[in-house]
Amino acid sequence: MGVLDIVPAGVLTGDNVKKLFDYAKEHKFAIPAINCTSSSTVNAVLEAARDQKTPIIIQFSQGGSAFYAGKGVSNKDQQASILGAIAGAYHVRAVAKHYGVPVPFVVVLHSDHCGRPLLPWLDGMLAADEAYFKEHNEPLFSSHMIDLSAETKEFNISTTAEYFKRCAPMKLWLEMEIGITGGEEDGVSHDTSDKSALYTPSEDVYEVYQALSPIAPYFSIAAAFGNVHGVYKPGNVVLSPQLLAGHQKYVKEQINSESDYPLYLVFHGGSGSTEDEIKEAVSNGVVKMNVDTDTQFAYLEGVRNFVQEKKDYLASQVGNPTGEDSPNKKYYDPRVWIREGEKTMYSRVQKANADLGNVNTL
Ligand SMILES: [Zn+2]
Repeated sequence: MGVLDIVPAGVLTGDNVKKLFDYAKEHKFAIPAINCTSSSTVNAVLEAARDQKTPIIIQFSQGGSAFYAGKGVSNKDQQASILGAIAGAYHVRAVAKHYGVPVPFVVVLHSDHCGRPLLPWLDGMLAADEAYFKEHNEPLFSSHMIDLSAETKEFNISTTAEYFKRCAPMKLWLEMEIGITGGEEDGVSHDTSDKSALYTPSEDVYEVYQALSPIAPYFSIAAAFGNVHGVYKPGNVVLSPQLLAGHQKYVKEQINSESDYPLYLVFHGGSGSTEDEIKEAVSNGVVKMNVDTDTQFAYLEGVRNFVQEKKDYLASQVGNPTGEDSPNKKYYDPRVWIREGEKTMYSRVQKANADLGNVNTL
């Protein structure tokens, strides 16, 4: 029994996303969502998941999407970010099924944090989803994130609900954030001088549930529990994944749920967390954990090591320690050194899967 017994292979949408998350909750594992910025990073992630026989989430941030389209494209009115996210989505859809040979596997296509100033980006992706839906009866993406956690709670919840109403006819999954993830990601940093904002109270989580659940069941909540984007020296903010158990219990009691885990929770800012902290979060109903910082560093490692080791072969097109006429093309070809970055990223993705209990889950 595995994920492929309950969902079809390929990019998942609609009820199949929910089935995957239900299965993960039931079997106490979570799926890493890896930030990608290029076809190279997407390919490394797909290869890692395919070889480990696991479902995987590919996600594009607003800045990552703009990079995907190309730094030469103007991002006025989020045009590059919209284009890049769509290009990335089509890339994943085009190649994913071929990675699934001989063993089929599944992918969730997601977009990351979208704060208030970036909403035109989300609007553009939703327009692409609606156009794709007309033709294929499913949205282009599996899911999106809206993140109005820096706004007032009232604005956050009501605006999220409005966007969720637009998603619902396509059964498009929506992730939202309440409370603040500290640190900086994708050029957006939060003032975390008010430490209490780093721990979302259960009442707030329930308020989100009350607003969204009448619209559709396809939503997840990134509640803050002292998590921080990026890797820093240990500070005075303590990661408290046990708080997530409190949210599940509180909502269960409010709605008389049969399930002990009525919420789909998402773990942001997980880089640098201990394996025990991750395990506790997963046991409390976290179904998705974002991984960006650690896979960024991993991608660099392979490239850096190659350049350092082969530096005498990379100084000129011709001439290296084996002879002054020896050609260096097989060292400076981007397919050689970029591939080294893909290999180290591949390993880090597999470690993320292992940390989350997502190995051989297909
Ligand atoms: Zn995040």
